[in-house]
Amino acid sequence: MHDFGLSIWGDDNFVIKDGKVALNYANNPSLLELTDKVREKGYKGPLLLRFPHLIKKQLFNLFGAFDETIKEFNYQGKFYAVFPLKVNQYPNFIHSLMKASSGYGYGLEAGSKAELIIAMSETPLGAPITVNGFKDMEMIALCFIAAKMGHNITVTIEGLGELETIIEVNEQFNKSSHIPVAPRIGMRIRLHSSGIGIWAKSGGYGSKFGLTATELLEAYELLKEYRLLDQLSMIHFHIGSQMNEIAPLKKALREAGNIYADLKNRGAASLSAINIGGGLAVEYSQHSGAQERNYSLKEFANDVVYLMQEVAKSKGIAEPDIFTESGRFIAASHSVLIAPVLELFSQEYHEKALRPKESNPPLVQELFDLYRLINRTNAREYLHDALDHMESILTLFDLGYVDLEDRSNTEILVNLIIKKAIELLKNDDADELHRLQNRIQEKYLVNFSAFQSLPDFWGLAQNFPVMPLDRLDTKPTLPASIWDITCDSDGEIGFNPKLPLHLHDIDVEEEEYFLAFFLAGAYQEVLGMKHNLFTHPTEVVIDFDAKGNPQLNNLIAAQNLIDILDDLDYDTNTMGNSLKLKLEDSVLIKEEEKRELLGKLYLYLSENSYLKTIQAIKETNK
Ligand SMILES: *Cc1c(COP(=O)(O)O)cnc(C)c1O
Repeated sequence: MHDFGLSIWGDDNFVIKDGKVALNYANNPSLLELTDKVREKGYKGPLLLRFPHLIKKQLFNLFGAFDETIKEFNYQGKFYAVFPLKVNQYPNFIHSLMKASSGYGYGLEAGSKAELIIAMSETPLGAPITVNGFKDMEMIALCFIAAKMGHNITVTIEGLGELETIIEVNEQFNKSSHIPVAPRIGMRIRLHSSGIGIWAKSGGYGSKFGLTATELLEAYELLKEYRLLDQLSMIHFHIGSQMNEIAPLKKALREAGNIYADLKNRGAASLSAINIGGGLAVEYSQHSGAQERNYSLKEFANDVVYLMQEVAKSKGIAEPDIFTESGRFIAASHSVLIAPVLELFSQEYHEKALRPKESNPPLVQELFDLYRLINRTNAREYLHDALDHMESILTLFDLGYVDLEDRSNTEILVNLIIKKAIELLKNDDADELHRLQNRIQEKYLVNFSAFQSLPDFWGLAQNFPVMPLDRLDTKPTLPASIWDITCDSDGEIGFNPKLPLHLHDIDVEEEEYFLAFFLAGAYQEVLGMKHNLFTHPTEVVIDFDAKGNPQLNNLIAAQNLIDILDDLDYDTNTMGNSLKLKLEDSVLIKEEEKRELLGKLYLYLSENSYLKTIQAIKETNK
């Protein structure tokens, strides 16, 4: 059985059952069964399934790991966590998250005014809100309003200018109030130990964010002068996302711990928490030997608690509370993108497509013979001959000596010979064979947009695990590359011989074949772009009833064409009128046909921009 690396990236979230990938939860519904349920309602195109039980699992793991470690170490500080909204602000996700987290005192982190409004309305009073990123007067005023509502809100200052604004806003808000109320204040530090990987800019001296040692001291003096020192409660850092190793975090923890202790000993009596930001990584790899993370959650928790305890002991201060802002770790696994395969491009390379002539040119005839006679013993030699002949025949074509039919026969035969040779030689682990897979790779045209649904594949070459929904009891044989339906050649997940993906040989006119892309729940949705005007796919939340039966909730259909254009600020009424007039005035259409065409046009405008699969077309024609 081929598991598409499920044991590496799957985290026991899925199982393979009867050849289908199924949830390792409740009554183990297969993803295919869930997909069919949504499609029966008439939604074709790509589909985003959200699984709140997987959000709950991640929260349970995160809080569980820290609570356990805190007990083991007899650590005196508490553990808190917030979800950084920039990772996923979609309401269907956030509502599931807040529901799943009740009981944990879990809050939200905001990095902009719009996110702050989400945090203020969705976070239960008492649970923490943290506010990072660049802030103006209005944003800081919103933090004061939140504090006056009763929210436990901490505004992290990224520079001295922000602190000056806080001082000003505090005077405005608290001048005449009988109970002065202000948000808590955090200070983001600029680490000298730098961040890692592609996100290195999030940490380190070159970072866009945080206060230097000199600025920290100045901020401390300012807080004291304006009697806000009692609000200073948190030291914050964030070394970057998807930390693939633990070493940089340890360095940052020591550095931040010493800054915390220094300020505390200097007189910052209310300082009580260290916020370690996000960065906890997710394993996206489908191939052993290519793992993206060298530590476990338990190791992560152990290091954080141990190092904070060490610093506290050596500096003689109380052990600080620990805050995390892990986003990717909480959100990535909760959604699965499911997309129908529309076409296999090189399916024409079949014997039935050959056009043998009465008399083929000698080299082409030889290819026919090689194909007929190739066997285990001669495979390598015949393969080389075939590749050599192909070069010659293509040259002959350029010179006008052979025709299009000869060239077509050549392409098919060489493709078939390579496939046969690979099959015959599959037990020899030759480099050459790996390279040849490139030449016979099958291009799968898939009904989705990589730009919309997996933008980090395009922008950062991030791999996402992919597998078909069924046929998992059959060995997939075709080296596959995946093409999305945008008109952009970057919308291709190419075949990589080092991290090979094989898919099944199927006839899409006869049978449906769906691909699932996993771990798409963090960052992808909101970074997704409307290249070619393909918008967010149809989404649905999968909850379970008491008997373990799946329920499809909060379905949101992909935008229809009119809404897409309206979003771009087209005047869709004017557009509609223009289309209608053009049809009515056209001399190319018979009068009685006009009404029917207009009806069709309106129907199409009410649908989304994704393609309908061939199956869908067959069904509507029934
Ligand atoms: C982006 C960000 C996070 C989340 O990082 P993940 O790697 O998704 O856990 C946390 N804190 C801050 C300040 C961030 O900018």
